[in-house]
Amino acid sequence: RFGGGVRPPEQYPIPGVKHVVAVASGKGGVGKSTVAANLALALAREGAKVGLLDADLYGPSQAKMFGLEGQRLKVDQNRRILPLEAHGIRVLSMANIVPPGQAMIWRGPILHGTLKQFLEEVNWGELDYLVVDLPPGTGDVQLSLAQLTRVSGGVIVTTPQEVALIDAERAADMFKKVQVPILGVVENMSHFLCPHCGKPTPIFGEGGGRRLAEALKVRFLGGIPLTLPLRESGDRGVPILVQDPEGPEAQAFLQAAREL
Ligand code: ADP
Repeated sequence: RFGGGVRPPEQYPIPGVKHVVAVASGKGGVGKSTVAANLALALAREGAKVGLLDADLYGPSQAKMFGLEGQRLKVDQNRRILPLEAHGIRVLSMANIVPPGQAMIWRGPILHGTLKQFLEEVNWGELDYLVVDLPPGTGDVQLSLAQLTRVSGGVIVTTPQEVALIDAERAADMFKKVQVPILGVVENMSHFLCPHCGKPTPIFGEGGGRRLAEALKVRFLGGIPLTLPLRESGDRGVPILVQDPEGPEAQAFLQAAREL
């Protein structure tokens, strides 16, 4: 699956977890969390057992995307945290631990400790993939993840715009510095898909994600359209892959997951 470039891990530092796949972006708002959620679902649709760790500790959004807001986490008999489950995915989000609206003003060591707990003191069960939704940019959490566990590969999410691409290059550089192989680039908001006539419009330009992949010498995993149903599904807590599995957005995510 990992393009031959990435060896399967000799050891699984998270008990039961075969591959950790980190999803990163150079900046916020490019749809990193949306892509992470739907890639996780697409991998599960292909038959894999998948978990999703919302490591965007300052701005967790996976609880909302999976309709798990307000749900409390439970622990098993060994007092290990049990992830919540929705649409066949085991999800752990800071939003289920800290009340929403509470500001997180944590320094590096606390972020590190929290991530360590999320990886080591959580009963993830048997997983083929643990998809990690990283915070935007390049910071403490990214560094800690690479230090704490063996990451099989990183996915970079960008929009086609030049300014977003420069940020994405920085995210790629971060993966290189912590020796995480880059599995490829997903271009989000590739084109706006008109709900009335179905015509695609390249609002943010064209071909940027592919150019970035070429410059980084990594694979282009595909483009995801900008659509109203995709935004609505995220807000409603029913991911697009569940809401409309045959639609163009779901097909784009399934295609990207197959390319991983
Ligand atoms: P990030 O994690 O990069 O900050 P999010 O995934 O939280 O970005 O997305 C930001 C907002 O944009 C959300 O409301 C989400 O539903 C919306 N969004 C993301 N990608 C798309 C898309 N391809 N089409 C429509 N809306 C999108």
